Amino acid sequence: MSETTTIRRGERCRIYPENGQPGGFRKIGGACRLLHNVALEQRRTYSRRGRYIGYHEQAAQLAELKEAYPFFAEVPHHCLQQVLRDLDTAFQRFFKGQAGYPKPKRKRDGGDSFRFPDPAQFRIWVGDNGNAWLTLPKFGKRKDDLGEIRMRMHRPLPPGARVKSITISQEAEWWYASLNYEAEVNAPVPHLGEAVGGDMGVAVPLMLSTGETFDVPKQTERELERLRRLEKSLARKKRGSRNREKARRALARHHAKVRRRRRDALRKIAATVAKNHGFIVLEDLNVKNMTASASGTVEEPGTNVAQKAGLNRAILEIGWYTLYLFLKEAAEKHGGRVLLVPPHHTSQTCPDPKCGHVSPANRAERSTFACVACGHEGHADHVAAKNILARGLEMVQAEADESQSAKAAKPRKQKTSKKTVAGGLPAPACGDLGAARSAKQEGRPARAGGSELHP
Ligand SMILES: [Zn+2]
Repeated sequence: MSETTTIRRGERCRIYPENGQPGGFRKIGGACRLLHNVALEQRRTYSRRGRYIGYHEQAAQLAELKEAYPFFAEVPHHCLQQVLRDLDTAFQRFFKGQAGYPKPKRKRDGGDSFRFPDPAQFRIWVGDNGNAWLTLPKFGKRKDDLGEIRMRMHRPLPPGARVKSITISQEAEWWYASLNYEAEVNAPVPHLGEAVGGDMGVAVPLMLSTGETFDVPKQTERELERLRRLEKSLARKKRGSRNREKARRALARHHAKVRRRRRDALRKIAATVAKNHGFIVLEDLNVKNMTASASGTVEEPGTNVAQKAGLNRAILEIGWYTLYLFLKEAAEKHGGRVLLVPPHHTSQTCPDPKCGHVSPANRAERSTFACVACGHEGHADHVAAKNILARGLEMVQAEADESQSAKAAKPRKQKTSKKTVAGGLPAPACGDLGAARSAKQEGRPARAGGSELHP
């Protein structure tokens, strides 16, 4: 009775490579990393000479490369092709100004991952109790290769799901297969729950415009103590020694454990919010550019972001970005919607519809908001969340107006949609901010402006 819709999702499953399998993985991962770096260097050289080389030319040279360096010939061809395709995508994004210049990959950057893009090349067998096996080129496809890989599936894929690609990756000592699949599911009944704005911050991870707050578990004192000890122990070990490698692994295990717990918490928050609210508005904390550097799936939003900026901030951003992805996924499931709005001044604007005064002076204190014009007071994050919601409602109203005037096929009735917006909605703002808002409509990646947002 209900319509169906096609969804595209990722599911990360733990795999248990044994005997020669981890070595086989490392070989493929290493070759893919090397190929990425060589292909990047080739593109650089070309552009220095004012020329251009694209995916097809580079892919055509793979045969030659394999002849000169036989270890490339031992790596599944599709994985190599995929490296060149990903690099090409990275360059296209760079040309469009959506991402920075592609960087070489280093061995330490969160392990080497590689992708099998062709469903004809892999098979998944699912047994009882979540036990499964994975067959990949060089792994279980032929009698004399490294054999099929044991896998755990914590939840079954939707019936009729088609796995489109598989990415193998490593985190500390654990290996994962990220299955990217497509499935037909019943279109969710549109969720008309209350609209809500959310402010993601440092002190309070998520505060809603309803005043509800959500916490994400931090490391306990004991864990921090352990972290310090592990770091110290690593620093003491001699470079290249076996003990150093051991210490490095222990540290990586610690980080992975903390990350996993954080991810679980974020998933639960997303599910709760999406269940209660049909329309969720968040700030666009430059998540579009985050995707570029992260280039991850839903389950694995980028492991090499940490090197990019201040470590602390990057970790927080990963949390925010992950929360955004989880919310989007959960909202889709419940028939809701997540909207991102430009983040400027959300923490400095008076939420009182009659006032709307914008000034840094409204935030003389870190955690409280006190309007210098009308005296409105409130918790700073709560005020921000309310402003975010107002901005989101304003944006959908503008969208609706636009599509209506397009339907009417008349030359615009109003000069701007701004005035109508200010009419019936909760928080019309002061003139100057309103102008800034209408100039910055959806679709443009907003500036990060982190320090301004969460001072
Ligand atoms: Zn005010």
